Amino acid sequence: MKDLKDLVRRNVWNMKPYSSARDEFQGNASVFLDANENPYNGPYNRYPDPMQWELKEKIAALKGVKRESIFLGNGSDEAIDLVIRAFCEPGADNIVSIDPSYGMYEVAANVNNVAFRKVRLDDRFDLDTDRLLEAADDDTKVIFLCSPNNPTGNNLSRDRLYQVLDAFQGIVVIDEAYVDFSTEPSFLGELENFPNLMVLQTMSKAWGAAGIRLGMAFASPEIITVLNKIKYPYNVNLLTQEYALSRLNETRNKEMQVETIIHERERLQEELPKINCVRKIYPTDANFLLVEVTDANAIYEKLVQRGIIVRNRTNVTLCNGCLRITVGKPDENKKLIMALKEL
Ligand SMILES: *Cc1c(COP(=O)(O)O)cnc(C)c1O
Repeated sequence: MKDLKDLVRRNVWNMKPYSSARDEFQGNASVFLDANENPYNGPYNRYPDPMQWELKEKIAALKGVKRESIFLGNGSDEAIDLVIRAFCEPGADNIVSIDPSYGMYEVAANVNNVAFRKVRLDDRFDLDTDRLLEAADDDTKVIFLCSPNNPTGNNLSRDRLYQVLDAFQGIVVIDEAYVDFSTEPSFLGELENFPNLMVLQTMSKAWGAAGIRLGMAFASPEIITVLNKIKYPYNVNLLTQEYALSRLNETRNKEMQVETIIHERERLQEELPKINCVRKIYPTDANFLLVEVTDANAIYEKLVQRGIIVRNRTNVTLCNGCLRITVGKPDENKKLIMALKEL
């Protein structure tokens, strides 16, 4: 990897971060008159911990990483935006990513006026490593990858991800939003081996907590320090920190839900191919299925009429004729199967 100093935008490297009251005094005291808070209505009268240390301790223990290697944000979307703002000079630098993939990488690049280069996946929805690396140049600061990928559902092959991590001199983000549903292990275990690796995870999928907005980025402490420098001081609110702490104690419950979802996914993989309007279902390591149907637009509309909403991906690269179907509860999946059979 290049020196971090040469990768980070110069203004970001040189700036002094905002220092909050909570930053300036850390420790125990009984009278807090430093932050212009209302003294009543505890505990919500107080600003939350800007660095979310208690929550990070919990996540560090759960994931086997150092707490200094964790950034927490208002969803993964915040981490995606901050990585771009930290490393990519608007109008000059660029980002390389894959197509199709999660739409937020491109939106965040556009918002920041950073060129976004998309490299098509191959016919197995896998990474074309050579073309990906050819698309990168000296101004490419970040490569965004997603595995298991959305909307295709498959893992990118591990050896190809290693090739990118080895060859690329900038930051490689691997978005693992769906890793808990996958047979492949996380890349978290590789953080120590690749200083340019950033792994994204989230509480929005397997943990069943999309509503609280908690995204996690894991990287070297040096990279995490840069993100912390430019984040909003209190980017993760107290209600979210509290709920996340309690939810992360429920690992058994989460694992049971994941097992049920995977079991239901397998059932859908058996049932869907028997239905007339289903042409093909793609392999998946996530909690959704990419399904090619006879007429995606018509079938999407007919499902809507029956109160069943799936994601129409027919206009997405390589996904012509496809619907993306999230695995639901058993009775929800039954309703979907019944409705598709009756179309
Ligand atoms: C759902 C999803 C996320 C989650 O984003 P949050 O902002 O954490 O809810 C991240 N990446 C991908 C690829 C996703 O599909």
